[in-house]
Amino acid sequence: MTYQETVWDESPSLKSYTLANFRDLPQIQNLSEQKQFEMEVVGNVLPFKANNYVVEQLIDWNNIPNDPMYVLTFPQKGMLQPEHFEKMSTTLKNNPDKKEIASIANEIRLQLNPHPAGQMELNIPTLKDGTKLYGMQHKYKETCLFFPSQSQTCHAYCTFCFRWPQFVGMDEMKFAMKEGEQLVQYLIEHPEITDVLFTGGDPMIMKAKIFSKYIETLIDAKLPNLKTIRIGTKSLSYWPYKFLTDDDSELMLNVFKKVTKNGIHLAFMAHFNHLIELSTNSVKRAIQEVRSTGAEIRTQSPLLAHINDDANMWAKMWTKQVQLGCIPYYMFVVRDTGAQHYFEVSLAKAQEIFRNAYKKISGLGRTVKGPSMSATPGKVLVDGIVSIHGEKVFSLRFLQGRNPDWVEKPFFAKYDENAIWLDELKPAFEEKFFFEDEFEKLYGVKMSH
Ligand SMILES: *Cc1c(COP(=O)(O)O)cnc(C)c1O
Ligand code: SF4
Repeated sequence: MTYQETVWDESPSLKSYTLANFRDLPQIQNLSEQKQFEMEVVGNVLPFKANNYVVEQLIDWNNIPNDPMYVLTFPQKGMLQPEHFEKMSTTLKNNPDKKEIASIANEIRLQLNPHPAGQMELNIPTLKDGTKLYGMQHKYKETCLFFPSQSQTCHAYCTFCFRWPQFVGMDEMKFAMKEGEQLVQYLIEHPEITDVLFTGGDPMIMKAKIFSKYIETLIDAKLPNLKTIRIGTKSLSYWPYKFLTDDDSELMLNVFKKVTKNGIHLAFMAHFNHLIELSTNSVKRAIQEVRSTGAEIRTQSPLLAHINDDANMWAKMWTKQVQLGCIPYYMFVVRDTGAQHYFEVSLAKAQEIFRNAYKKISGLGRTVKGPSMSATPGKVLVDGIVSIHGEKVFSLRFLQGRNPDWVEKPFFAKYDENAIWLDELKPAFEEKFFFEDEFEKLYGVKMSH
């Protein structure tokens, strides 16, 4: 495969493509009416947004329908279960009004496990005065997640994304919180927190002016426990102009500098799913700009069927990231929500892909950890597949746990070629996993297996 390295040096403005206008694209008009209708069916249930950079520079339109960037951003028929697809398809053919479409869409969405890993119930923090902070999550001791109300969208949407209920207006709370002050108060009350992770949607969708308000509030509070600000973002991949030519790009880079000059580490957690996303001149220049502020870029991605289930691609991608000055960080197993059935890769295959990629790269890329499941009890790594006294088992360990003491204790599950998630695994050599009793006592949630 070759990807043209277009020189696209003007300063484009963001043009979004959604259900409302995707048929205007000449590249889409080249597809059959059947294909266009399929996209409409799926796009009415799952979030759909692409943009001019993705369409013109990342997708290879000569490689449809297999092009990974196309599958990553444009809805595909297989992303809905056949019965759900049929339901929406029939609805659309009967001249429905908007309300009917929305009601069928929500009915289907509720069957797609919109809040995996106990996200809603278990992780909402509370201030000492009793205020619930719906715009935050605090699951692991050192790190709290912060969802600014202005970052509930992204420059484009990934078709696999587990945050999809936020984009389709399903979450009444939208995890959103207006004020940075509550964040500061929470950090004062929780001196164990060292890292604040800005997330969303994509926080880099925010105007620099708004983002800088949050950052200034944090810096001005002079919190002795705050060591690192992280930004979880796909902007380098979907809209590198945020750091090059947008009207607030310079201001944004200055905000980054302000963080690092104040002695706080700025960890830019960049989401890259495929080598193609690292191929344009714009992304390379944007990486340089971000790094020149003193920020470090760490990279992460889930492993996804139809997009990146290829060890050679991962090896090349990690090597390219190291070359560009980025630090490979996580390979995730895709979550049990939304279109998981389309993207799923078994744990056995995920471990094999990880190992086959990892063994091909230099030690500098071996900062990466994976494949890791962000499950309800914690982040669980599939460390390997081994035979112990003739029994084939998965060797697992927590990278993060609801109880920090669970971390780094190897434990074993019976090998299961088809298992795709922790709750499908059965303990090997014992009745229960070592953390199960405590987990159930702490949270009143049973592990099912
Ligand atoms: C992954 C994750 C973090 C960060 O974990 P690290 O291993 O420190 O990168 C924090 N909170 C939640 C809820 C997470 O899923
Ligand atoms: S950029 Fe991140 S939050 Fe936005 S759709 Fe993709 S994975 Fe989800």
